[in-house]
Amino acid sequence: MHLVWYFLCVLGFTSKSFRVVHLDLKGAPPRLGYLRQLLPLLAAQGCDALLIEYEDMFPYTGRLANASALNAYTRKDVKRLLSWAHDMGMEVIPLVQTFGHLEYVLKLEEFRHYRELPSFPQEVCPSNEDTMSLIEEMIEQMMSLHPDAKYLHLGCDEVFHIAACSKCTQRHLSKIYARYVIQLAELVRKKYPGVTPIIWDDMMRQWSPQYISSSPLTSLIEPMVWVYAEDVSKLLPHYIWHWYGKTFKKVWIAGAYKGATLPTSVVPDIEVHFKNQISWLNYIDNTPVQIKGFVLTGWSRYDHFAVLCELLPVSIPSLFLGLSLISRKHKHITQTEVFNIWHSSMRCSPSLKFDLHNLKFEPRYLSSCNFPGIEIYNAILQYLTIKSNIEALDISLTEKKGWMTKYNVDHNYTSPWRILEDYRSLNAHQLQQELGHFKNSTELKLSKYFDQFSINEWIEQKIFPLEFKLHNLRKTMENLIRRDVWPRRPLR
Ligand SMILES: [Zn+2]
Repeated sequence: MHLVWYFLCVLGFTSKSFRVVHLDLKGAPPRLGYLRQLLPLLAAQGCDALLIEYEDMFPYTGRLANASALNAYTRKDVKRLLSWAHDMGMEVIPLVQTFGHLEYVLKLEEFRHYRELPSFPQEVCPSNEDTMSLIEEMIEQMMSLHPDAKYLHLGCDEVFHIAACSKCTQRHLSKIYARYVIQLAELVRKKYPGVTPIIWDDMMRQWSPQYISSSPLTSLIEPMVWVYAEDVSKLLPHYIWHWYGKTFKKVWIAGAYKGATLPTSVVPDIEVHFKNQISWLNYIDNTPVQIKGFVLTGWSRYDHFAVLCELLPVSIPSLFLGLSLISRKHKHITQTEVFNIWHSSMRCSPSLKFDLHNLKFEPRYLSSCNFPGIEIYNAILQYLTIKSNIEALDISLTEKKGWMTKYNVDHNYTSPWRILEDYRSLNAHQLQQELGHFKNSTELKLSKYFDQFSINEWIEQKIFPLEFKLHNLRKTMENLIRRDVWPRRPLR
C-alpha cells in the first residue's frame, strides 16, 4: 500500500516537479526593475525555478573578462536578481555552455585556438588539453556567484562540429562526446558536492539504447529533454523516452514559450507553443519516469550571432498561458479552466472570451489586458501593421502597378504623372511619417524594459530596413520623374 502511494507521488509529472521559466539573457538583458516586477507574478503562476542563461551577460572577470558584453550585468546586479528569486522561493539553475554554443567566447582572438574548427567559433575541441581548464574557470566563476545552486546546467546541446579536427577524428563520435561530458560532470560533482549537473539531451538522442544504458554518464547527469514542436513524439520517438526512463533516475523536460518558431519572429505563436506544451503533457501522461521539472524555454536569439527574436514583454501572454497549463496541481484540467486562470493572470476584462483560434488570427484580443509588457505588445502589433503596409506599398509600386517596375527603372522610362499619382494614392508619405513617430514612441516605451544598447539593436534590425525601403522607393521615384524627354521605342 505504501509502495503504491510512493510511486503515485514521485513518478511522472507531479506537484513536486519544478515549473521552470527559462530566462535567456544573451545580448539583450531586460532591465532588472522589469525582472523584479515579473518574478512575483511568475511565482503566483506556479513558477518555482528559473533557468538563467547569461551567456555574454554574465560578469566574467580575469582572463574571461572579454567574454562579457560591455552591457553585461554586474556582480551586484546578479546578486540582486538572485535575492529576489530567493525571496520568491525559487530555485535558480545557472546555465553555462561548456561544449557547443560557445560563440561568445570563441569568437574572440584570445580564445580562437580552443575551437574545434578554425573557421567556426561554436565548439571547443575536447581533445585540446587546455580546453578543460578554460571551461573549469567558466564554471568556477559561475558557481562563485551561485553558491546556493543545487543544479548547474552545462548546456552541451547542438555540438554541430564534433570529431572534426585532426586530433578528434581518430576517436569514435559518441565516445568523444560522452567522454568529454563525463569529465565535465565528474569535475562538477567533485568540486561542488550536492550540485547536480544537467545537460540538454539532443546529442544523446542519436545514440543506441545499449550505448545510453552502458554509459557512466547516466549516473552523473540529469538530462533535459527538449522538443518545441507541436507534436513531441515526432521528434522524440517513444523508444528513446523508454530508454531514457530505464537509464536515468530523473529527467527534465522542456517546451517553449518563445524563440522557437522563426529566428526573426517578433510575436510568439501562442497556438504553436500551447500545443507543444499540451503535447508534452500527453506524452508523459502515466509515464513511469520521474519528471524533475517542466521548463518553459524562451529564447532571445537562435544563437549568439543571430538577430533578436521575440522580446520578453511581448511574450508574457505566451509565458503565462504555459504556466497556467503546467502549474495545475491536479492531473486533469479542462482547456476552459486553463484559459480562465490565464485571463485573470493577465488582468483581462472578464467579458473578453477568446480561444486559441482567434488568438492566432486576432492577437489584438489581448490589447486591452493589463499584463507587464502590454505597451510593448501593442507597439509590436502596430509595428506589424506598419511593416505590412510598407511591404504592400513596395509590391504595389514595383510589381503590381506598371510604371515603377524594374523595367521602368532600368530604362528610365515612365509616366511621371502616373508615378506621382500612385505614390500619393498609396499614402507613401504618410507611411514615412507614421514610421518616424512609431520609432520615437517605441524607443521611449522600450526604455522601461531594456537598456539603450538593446533598444538600438532592435530598432536597427526592425525599423531601419523599413526606413531603407521607403528611402529607396522615394529616390527611385524622384529619379524617374526628373526626366521630361523620352526616346523612341524599342528601348535600349
Ligand atoms: Zn578536436
